[in-house]
Amino acid sequence: MNKIEHIGIAVNNLSEANDLYEKLLGVAPYKTEEVESEGVKTSFFKCGESKIELLEATNESSPIAKFVEKRGEGIHHLAFAVEDIEAEIKRLTSQGFVLLNETPKKGADNKLVAFLHPKSAHGVLVELCQDIKI
Ligand code: ZN
Repeated sequence: MNKIEHIGIAVNNLSEANDLYEKLLGVAPYKTEEVESEGVKTSFFKCGESKIELLEATNESSPIAKFVEKRGEGIHHLAFAVEDIEAEIKRLTSQGFVLLNETPKKGADNKLVAFLHPKSAHGVLVELCQDIKI
């Protein structure tokens, strides 16, 4: 794994959270995107080399809706940048990690993504993400 690509934060209301993070970080989001398959609206902020992803559920069955209902707003996942997501999935599976999706899927911000079950990582939802090369 190369670095932490971004930190995902679950919020109730994306436009309110955007305003707050814009004040906090001193920059506007560089991207807002809906990922229909995940039932989320997202926005991304740059803070130096680091990125923050805000996520709001767009329907009740969204994983973000369930998360916020159970645990309230807050840090939802840690995303690590990887070069070769298929190879990382194989490596981690062979080390005993449980993946929520064993084949990468298209996520926000032009990435292929896969998630490790939080039970595999001491309660932290870990996202692997690889840039989609065009
Ligand atoms: Zn993410």
